[in-house]
Amino acid sequence: MKLAERMHRLGTESAFEVLARAKELERKGKEVIHLEIGEPDFKTPQNICDSAKDYIDKGYTHYTPSQGLYESREAIAKYIEKTRGIQVDPDEVVITPGGKPILFYAILTFVEPGDEVIIPDPAYPIYESVVRFVNGIPRLIPLREELGFRWDLNELKDAITSSTKMIILNSPHNPTGCIFPMEDLKVIAELAQENDLIVVSDEIYSRLIYEGRHESIISFPGMKERTILMDGFSKTYAMTGWRLGYGIMAKDFIPHFTRLVTNTVSCATSFVQLAGIEALEGDQSDVEAMVAEFKERRDVIIQGLNEIEGISCKKPQGAFYAFPNIQSLGMKSKDFADLLLQEYGVAVLSGTAFGPAGEGYLRLSYANSLENIRKALDRIREAVEAVKG
Ligand code: PLP
Repeated sequence: MKLAERMHRLGTESAFEVLARAKELERKGKEVIHLEIGEPDFKTPQNICDSAKDYIDKGYTHYTPSQGLYESREAIAKYIEKTRGIQVDPDEVVITPGGKPILFYAILTFVEPGDEVIIPDPAYPIYESVVRFVNGIPRLIPLREELGFRWDLNELKDAITSSTKMIILNSPHNPTGCIFPMEDLKVIAELAQENDLIVVSDEIYSRLIYEGRHESIISFPGMKERTILMDGFSKTYAMTGWRLGYGIMAKDFIPHFTRLVTNTVSCATSFVQLAGIEALEGDQSDVEAMVAEFKERRDVIIQGLNEIEGISCKKPQGAFYAFPNIQSLGMKSKDFADLLLQEYGVAVLSGTAFGPAGEGYLRLSYANSLENIRKALDRIREAVEAVKG
């Protein structure tokens, strides 16, 4: 059967492909340390699980309005008001199964064939995939390691044309762990207003910050009208499998996103939306403990990587990824990642899984125990020594 042409333009996330290969090796008896997965290795906090069970028992097991339950949208609006310092009405919130659909819907809603979308390189691969899917044109602007994986803002300015429709931001950033500072966001906000652009701000790692604080472009004057803020529960509350996320946007945009929810998934799961209120308003000590643990792991993995001759790694300020530079090994990132998995039992992602500027880098997730991180560091050192001869 001939597929629709657009299906050939849809990309994927290679984390799932590497995970499948690692699992296959494990099935054959090889021990693998998993540093490829982008999800917290912690349990969902008990108060959230109890809340969901309670709502199931009370019968909250049916469809909800596609935009999401009012009480859940109200809790999200309050949370965004508190964390982003802006006024948000529950009618400016749309709830989705995970944050990912917001990215898909934003691109479907605003990007016409031939429109250009500015995307950081490297970045979460779904942005480019969906832009290509709708026949938009991704404009990949490199994040410069020498600038702490920020954009050179002159390069960004030069990339904007009359066809540019959207800028996608992700801070804290996957895969580099960098945070876009206020002064950069300010310039990007000015460019967006001067050029009448939509900004999609993927803030899924907003609570996983080890230095400084989270800043959102939506907080700048005039930006609420043109920003689609995406955040969710997956990373903050270790709720990846629950599928709960949301978009914050101008009221005018909401009916279009809601119609897309109706046309695709109908609604996010009812009792999950309600348990989300407990997540936002209940005890936060599990989140604080998780962030403290991630910070300790970050310090161990970054120090360990920098102690390996041939590798250098910038200290990320957020998320749970290290993005070491392996250029001095003179080997393609994908080949070195394959070698690490096949010969040394360490599953990592090639930087190129996130864009061409990822060549010369690996992405390591430190969502794993300190013991496994130390073991992985030993194995990486061995691999580097073997490659360097
Ligand atoms: N955005 C980024 C940058 C991510 O890394 C991920 C997950 O890995 C997502 C979005 C998807 O999040 P969710 O589970 O809320 O759909």
